[in-house]
Amino acid sequence: MARYIFITGGVVSSLGKGLMAASLAALLQARGYKVRIRKFDPYLNVDPGTMSPYQHGEVYVTDDGAETDLDLGHYERFTGVSAHQGDNITSGRIYQQIIARERRGDYLGATVQVIPHVTDAIKQFALADTEDLDFVLCEIGGTVGDIESLPFIEAIRQLRNELGRERSCAVHVTLVPYVSAAGELKTKPTQHSVRELTSLGVQPDLLLCRCEHALPESERSKIALFCNVRPEAVIQALDASSIYAVPLQYHAEGLDDEVLRHFDLAAPTPDLARWDDILDRYQNPEGEVTIGVVGKYVGLPDAYKSLNEALVHGGMANRVKVNIRWIDAEIFEQDDSDIVAQLEPLHGILVPGGFGTRGSEGKIASVRFARERNVPFFGICLGMQMACVEGARNTAGIETAASTEFGPTDEPVVGIITEWMTKEGLQTREAGGDLGGTMRLGAYDARLQPNSRVAEIYGSTEISERHRHRYEVNASYVPALEQGGLVFSGMSPDGLLPEIVERPDHPWFVGVQFHPELKSKPFDPHPLFASFIKAAIHQSRLV
Ligand code: GLN
Repeated sequence: MARYIFITGGVVSSLGKGLMAASLAALLQARGYKVRIRKFDPYLNVDPGTMSPYQHGEVYVTDDGAETDLDLGHYERFTGVSAHQGDNITSGRIYQQIIARERRGDYLGATVQVIPHVTDAIKQFALADTEDLDFVLCEIGGTVGDIESLPFIEAIRQLRNELGRERSCAVHVTLVPYVSAAGELKTKPTQHSVRELTSLGVQPDLLLCRCEHALPESERSKIALFCNVRPEAVIQALDASSIYAVPLQYHAEGLDDEVLRHFDLAAPTPDLARWDDILDRYQNPEGEVTIGVVGKYVGLPDAYKSLNEALVHGGMANRVKVNIRWIDAEIFEQDDSDIVAQLEPLHGILVPGGFGTRGSEGKIASVRFARERNVPFFGICLGMQMACVEGARNTAGIETAASTEFGPTDEPVVGIITEWMTKEGLQTREAGGDLGGTMRLGAYDARLQPNSRVAEIYGSTEISERHRHRYEVNASYVPALEQGGLVFSGMSPDGLLPEIVERPDHPWFVGVQFHPELKSKPFDPHPLFASFIKAAIHQSRLV
C-alpha cells in the first residue's frame, strides 16, 4: 500500500517546493522505491491552460492531453515517470465536478458543503490509482495561511488521521531568512508558519528550511524545540548552484534518510550515479554555445521552463555549456532594429511556441535570417508555423502568406483546425468555441520520411510527441512550400497534418508542430535538442 508524503510551503512563495518534491521522489526512486508526484493547485481556473505565461509560467502538457502546472515538468524530468491528468488538480476542477453533480441531482436532499464534499473530492484525487506505488508525494500549491488552500490542508488533516502515521508524512518547506544588520538567521517566521499549520490540525514531521547561510546547530535545535519535531528532522536546504545539484545536496543533508526513518522503512544504499554524471556534465563543460530564443514571454524565464531545461540537456549530451539569450521578437519590428547585430553572434536560433500576433513579424524575420545565413534554426510549434510562413513569402512567392491566428488573410498558410483524428476517433471543434482545454492536446504519433534528417536524428520513422495548438500548417500549401525548398519530413499517420518541416539544403533547419522540450530529461536528452546543440557547436567554430 502506498505511503503518502504531503508537502506544504510556508512564510513565502517560490521556495522551490516543486523541486523539493521532485528531488525527494528521485532520491526515493534511487533507493528502489516506486514513486508518483501529484500537485494540488488551490486557484479557481479549471487548469492553467487559459492563464498567461506571465501569470503562471509555462503550461506543461502530459501525454494524455492535460494542461498542467509547470511543476509536473520538474517531476517528470527528475523521475522519468510520465505524469497524467490525474496528477494535477485545481480547486476549479473540483468545484466544476461538484457543481455538475449537484445539478444532475446526485446529492438530492443534501446541502453541498466544503466539508465533506470538497474535501472528499480532494481525498479521492490523492488516493486514486496508487495501488502499485510505494510513495505518493502530494505538493500543495501556495503558502500556508492562504484562504484558498484551506480545503486542501483540511483534506490532508483528514487523510493523515485515516492513513495513520505509518502511511503519512507531512513535510513543511519554510524560509529561514538572514538579517544582515543583525548578522543572524531568523527562525521566527518558521515558528509562525508551523504554528499556523498546526492550528489547522497538521503537525509537520519534517521541516525543510531554505536558507542562504548554513543553519547552525543552535538554530536547528531551536526550530526543533518550538516546532515540535526531532532536530534531525530539521533539514537545512541551502541555495544550490543548479537545480540538478538539489537531489544530491538534499541527500547529503539526510532528507531521504529521515523520510525513510519516519516510515520505519529499509534504507538501501541509493544508486545516485546518474545524478553524479549529469552534474559532472553540467559543471565541467568542454566548450560553450550561445542560442538565441526569439519569443514573446522573454521577461519571465518560467514561461519557457521546459525549453530552457531541454537546451541545458542538449548541452549535457554534448558536454557544452549552453548560454541562452532571450530576445523579444518585437524589437525586430521596430524601424531602427538591427537584426544582424543581435543575431549574428548566435550559434543557433530558436523560435519557440507562442500565441497571438504580437512579435510574429519579428519571429518571421529571425527565421529568414537563420535560413539565409545558414545559422542552425529550430522552430517549435508557433516557431514551425512561422518557418512555413517565412518560406511561403520568401521562397515560394506567396507574398501575403500568413496565419489566420493573426486575422483574416487571403493566403492562410497556417489555419485553424476544426477536425483531426485521434486514437479514439474524430475530434471536432467549432471556430469561435470555448478556449479552455479545446486545443489539439497531448501525445500524437507522427510518421517520418525515411532518409530525412529527422529520421536520422530520432533513429526511427515512428515517433510520438506532445502537442498544444489550435492552428496547423495548411496541407494544401505543401506542394508550393516544397517548391520553395521546405521538406515535410513528418506527417500525422493519416498523412493529413504536417508535423515536421526541414530544409535539406541548410546545415540544420527543423520546425516541429509539437513540443519536444516537454519530453527531454537530463538523463535522456531529447534527440532534437542534442542534435541542434551539436549543430550549434559546429556553427561556433565557423563564427
Ligand atoms: N498559437 C499557435 C497555435 O495555436 C501555436 C501554439 C504553440 O506554439 N503552442 O497553433
